[in-house]
Amino acid sequence: MALIVHKYGGTSMGSTERIRNVAKRVAKWTRAGHQIVVVPSAMSGETNRLLGLAKELAPAKPDTAYNRELDMLASTGEQASSALLAIALQAEGQPSVSYAGWQVAIKTNDAFTKARIESIDDARVRGDLDAGKVVIITGFQGVDDSGNITTLGRGGSDTSAVAVAAAMKADECLIYTDVDGVYTTDPRVVPEARRLQTVSFEEMLEMASMGSKVLQIRSVEFAGKYKVPMRVLSSFTPWDIDINEEAASGTLITFEEDEQMEQAVVSGIAFNRDEAKISVVGVPDKPGIAYQILGAVADANIEVDVIIQNLSKDGKTDFSFTVHRNDYTKTLDLLKEKVLPSLGAVEVLGDAKICKVSIVGIGMRSHVGVASKMFRSLSEEGINIQMISTSEIKTSVVIDEKYMELAVRALHKAFDLDQA
Ligand code: ASP
Ligand code: MG
Repeated sequence: MALIVHKYGGTSMGSTERIRNVAKRVAKWTRAGHQIVVVPSAMSGETNRLLGLAKELAPAKPDTAYNRELDMLASTGEQASSALLAIALQAEGQPSVSYAGWQVAIKTNDAFTKARIESIDDARVRGDLDAGKVVIITGFQGVDDSGNITTLGRGGSDTSAVAVAAAMKADECLIYTDVDGVYTTDPRVVPEARRLQTVSFEEMLEMASMGSKVLQIRSVEFAGKYKVPMRVLSSFTPWDIDINEEAASGTLITFEEDEQMEQAVVSGIAFNRDEAKISVVGVPDKPGIAYQILGAVADANIEVDVIIQNLSKDGKTDFSFTVHRNDYTKTLDLLKEKVLPSLGAVEVLGDAKICKVSIVGIGMRSHVGVASKMFRSLSEEGINIQMISTSEIKTSVVIDEKYMELAVRALHKAFDLDQA
């Protein structure tokens, strides 16, 4: 007997028919002798619908009283889907009980709309499991010290599931979703993309931070911190497929210790179109410049990603960095108004038509020449690299947005990712 956490995403919970399917699948797992905790998302579209209603009444604003109500509101989506799933399980003859986050309790800090989980009390859940029930815990939400309902940020049910699995020392956390695993890259861009049998948690972290939407990044951080065995798999297989086949399907997220020696050098190609480039041109090259520019940006709560500074010529240099596209005009205005005058720089230039393409793989640690292979492959396609950044397990380049698909396809091929 194992203790397993199942997480079902919004699409998997998208209609009563699908909820019935989830119930049948979960009941199959309990019949096989396992204890199951289920963490569902709201039915697909529900969170957007609820938040949309709030916006009709008053636009989003950085206001604690307003955000508290958003959490009060949005959390009802998961409360509904959880109760529906409990009803469906009971109809299958499987005793089941659902709890909202505060009833468990899942304690969080008080950062409404982006709260962080601090602790989980699993006593009540264990009691129910031992009494033979399936326990359903709402995803996406918790409760702060003052008893206010909080939510964990969009996509937060993944994090709820992993946190519950960590707190209960579950044997595995199965993330059921509308794709059948983690792919070498987005199959919509490269049809030859393959599903990975395993991916290391660090690679998954890089991919999640670079726009792969499969898992909320915080859930991956959580899994890494508490070494929660985690698998991404499809909820669209027939519910009655063989349980062993199901248990081995999808993509397993592994920790390096259990990693086999034969690791592909590059495991995946990630990309995102969400960034924009800012260049400060003709900056006097003297101490404190990076701080003057990036300090002002950080003070405005704008996150910076790739940064480069050119060699100086005649005491002047150019300084470029990328920010999220949503922050693009805000950053440009800030630099033009506040920083440029005191800096003595010549001008600030911006380019929002860029994208970032990255190769990711823990095998890069032990192989040389991986980055140069990437650069060669891009040059053969005539793609100009504007910026480069590297870490131990990834190399990213910033290029013109119009070459994104070409670059991703070329790299996917160059690193043999289309071959099993
Ligand atoms: N329902 C929430 C959302 O749509 C949380 C989740 O689905 O993970 O963001
Ligand atoms: Mg999701």
